[in-house]
Amino acid sequence: MTSNIRFEALKLAWGHAPVKVDKANAKAKVIFAQNVFTREKMKEYIASNILDQLFDLIDSEKPLSRDIANSVAIGMKKWATELGATHYTHWFQPLTGGTAEKHDAFFDFDDNGKPIEKFSGSVLYQQEPDASSFPSGGIRNTFEARGYSAWDPTSPAFVIGDRLCIPTIFVAYTGEALDYKTPLLRSISAVNKAAVAVANYFDRNVKSVTTYLGWEQEYFLVDESLFAARPDLLMTGRTLMGHYSSKNQQLDDHYFGIIPERVLAFMTELEIEAQKLGIPLKTRHNEVAPNQFEIAPIFEEANLSSDHNQLLMSLMEQVARHHHFRVLLHEKPYGGVNGSGKHCNWSLGTNTGINLVAPGKNPYQNLQFVTFLVNVLKAVHRHNGLLKASIVSATNAHRLGGHEAPPAIISVFLGSQLTEALNQIENADVDKGIIINAKKEMKLGVGTIPEILLDNTDRNRTSPFAFTGNRFEFRAVGSSANCAGAVLALNAAVAEQLTMFKSEVDTLIDKGEAKERALFTVIKRYIGDCRDIRFDGNGYSDEWKEEAMKRGLDCETNVPVIIDNYLTDQTVKMFSSTGVLSPSELESRCEVKWENYSLKLQIESRVLGDLVINHVLPAAKRYQKTLLEKVAHMKQVFDSEEAKMLNEQDCLLIRRIEGHASAIIAGVDKMTELRVIANHITDQRERANAFHDTVVPIMEEIRKHVDELEMWIDDQLWTLPKYRELLFIR
Ligand code: ADP
Ligand code: MG
Repeated sequence: MTSNIRFEALKLAWGHAPVKVDKANAKAKVIFAQNVFTREKMKEYIASNILDQLFDLIDSEKPLSRDIANSVAIGMKKWATELGATHYTHWFQPLTGGTAEKHDAFFDFDDNGKPIEKFSGSVLYQQEPDASSFPSGGIRNTFEARGYSAWDPTSPAFVIGDRLCIPTIFVAYTGEALDYKTPLLRSISAVNKAAVAVANYFDRNVKSVTTYLGWEQEYFLVDESLFAARPDLLMTGRTLMGHYSSKNQQLDDHYFGIIPERVLAFMTELEIEAQKLGIPLKTRHNEVAPNQFEIAPIFEEANLSSDHNQLLMSLMEQVARHHHFRVLLHEKPYGGVNGSGKHCNWSLGTNTGINLVAPGKNPYQNLQFVTFLVNVLKAVHRHNGLLKASIVSATNAHRLGGHEAPPAIISVFLGSQLTEALNQIENADVDKGIIINAKKEMKLGVGTIPEILLDNTDRNRTSPFAFTGNRFEFRAVGSSANCAGAVLALNAAVAEQLTMFKSEVDTLIDKGEAKERALFTVIKRYIGDCRDIRFDGNGYSDEWKEEAMKRGLDCETNVPVIIDNYLTDQTVKMFSSTGVLSPSELESRCEVKWENYSLKLQIESRVLGDLVINHVLPAAKRYQKTLLEKVAHMKQVFDSEEAKMLNEQDCLLIRRIEGHASAIIAGVDKMTELRVIANHITDQRERANAFHDTVVPIMEEIRKHVDELEMWIDDQLWTLPKYRELLFIR
């Protein structure tokens, strides 16, 4: 047997033992947020009069003065250098989807030329990274490369290794957002304003409403040596080929199963490192597919939670390396098994401690709950196309509609009890129905607003957007995505909706209607208006696709076309009225999304071409050669009739291999030709569409032949680790 990279990789992979992780010295009580410049730590390092001003500005969303920034910088540097930091960086989230850092040393010279450590308010406050290479969708031409990163004091600074990281927004010199954080912050503020106004119908003490986010991060682990032997995983994050493993997830024996020791060691170290950074990880378990896992924190304020998710994703990649793993955050690393999502659990909470999307303790609170619930439904209904656009990407496209993943149609699951409650409210008679007694208990014609106790077992895995008792779970979000993309769209849609609701209710009140009656009237109408977004059935079924189409929900599956939803009049108006994204910011985001789509496919298609030419076809030819030699030898030993008979199967096999091999060669030629044509298209949208319409189908065609070949060719000659090895090796 000749040595083959696949067998070398397998040998290494099987040899990797669990890495020991010292847990005893990492008690959460001690280490939690030890590397974060929390408000408590600020008190130790910054004068209290400065801090009071700082917290005041943060809480009232007012801009920061340079004087305060200077004083904070001095304290921050002292704290960070005590932890061993020698560098600082603005930490921001450009539209590439990842995070960006540029490290500068604290090191400087003083006026006498002596080396000192220096960090001033101005560099804490604002920096001008060379922004010309970040995607901007045309907002910032390269000759006008100025982009600013500016401190976001609502997310605390932290130290990783030798650097102080300062969470920042990233904007063009003309003020437009070039990142995810800026519009997320704007959307949080828009929801706050709109939700306070509505919550005040129920309680005048509500002064602020916070958006909460708790994500569930799914991911795959793969051994590093196998990963290294799969150029497609290495370069695109997914396998572009691979015959499905005979056993994959059909037995459901991985889900919630015992976590393999090697993986547990990885998770333990990840949790420790995440704890130090103040990421409140809480849950970990095996997911449905082999070697697929999930990790989830306790929910937090959405901006912080979103930062923590970005931070965790990079931490996962670092920690995985200590354990000879690579982490796959791609939505669909393997065909035939589950993909990975990032469920974004979303809720709204008041400063008075009420969760606005959870049933309350009394009927009055329940009216408030129903108000917010119905407004969310209405927003999701109206903007279902946009919400889908907020979660699609070249990578998530492989997951949507696949194994156990939500379909590419946005609908909301409520469960039977809540559906029943809404039906009752919708059919109740406003004139007969409402009695509000002194205790503010509201009775409807149908009795008191049903005591809404929600049964958490009423679950539906196929729903892209589910109500789960005290929160909405946006499940269509992809595992590699920045949560902010989806959350900011949802926030903006809900903010717009709540504002419209308030104005409708106020109009009725102005006409002399009692407040409760006005609320009730509008809610009743809304329940009917947005009924079409509610769907509790099987999202995988073909009937649902037909039904959804009839209901007028967005059923498009082509990613470049789905992105158009960002530019409809309705969307542009919504984002403008809420102040979350301006028309030019929307346009630039679409340009980036289309470009990103094309680039991902361009890379995938090149890698596929390379792999089939340099790995697959040579293996096929080698095996054919062996077969041909055998056939020729037969002819030497046996007379021609007998040799013919004895060679029949092998001749068939030679033909079969030849058939697939020629189809592959023709396919690669065609794919290259189509790719070149697509690459020459200058309009980003058209180009993305060309990749979608022409390059994707031929890639799928090529893959079919490659996967067939994998079945027919001698295992010893196959050089790429197979699915059964990638998925099952520990
Ligand atoms: P499941 O898989 O059953 O949905 P998990 O425990 O895996 O549950 O994850 C639930 C996620 O929902 C966690 O991130 C958790 O913090 C979050 N979550 C729970 N309650 C809320 C809430 N009120 N608002 C936002 N997120 C929440
Ligand atoms: Mg979960």
